[in-house]
Amino acid sequence: MTTLNSSQAKRIWRTAIKKAWNDRCAYCGNPPIDDKSLTIDHVKPRAHGGQDQTKNCIPACLRCNADKGSDQWMSWFRMQDFYSIEAEIRIKNWLIKGKVEFGSEEDSIWLDKFINHITT
Ligand SMILES: [Zn+2]
Repeated sequence: MTTLNSSQAKRIWRTAIKKAWNDRCAYCGNPPIDDKSLTIDHVKPRAHGGQDQTKNCIPACLRCNADKGSDQWMSWFRMQDFYSIEAEIRIKNWLIKGKVEFGSEEDSIWLDKFINHITT
């Protein structure tokens, strides 16, 4: 695990986040058409002080990611046709205790720490 370089770790991390959400957009719930169309969204944009950490990152389809832009996620989300309270709760829970699983608990902790020190 510790022999990974940062781009490998980043790829594993992004895949693990998507897997935690069943490869679906956290906002509209749509599955991706292909891997590239599911992006990683900073719930609180970096421009607004949002951090590069697992808890602040969820999968979002290209449409949601682009449409949300740097708006405050909750006010943006509540205006969407696909808004649901269940999805809002799921996102809020992730913001509190979201973390990715990879191999052993030790690997997951290491990956999480590592990723929080590199930029996405
Ligand atoms: Zn979406």
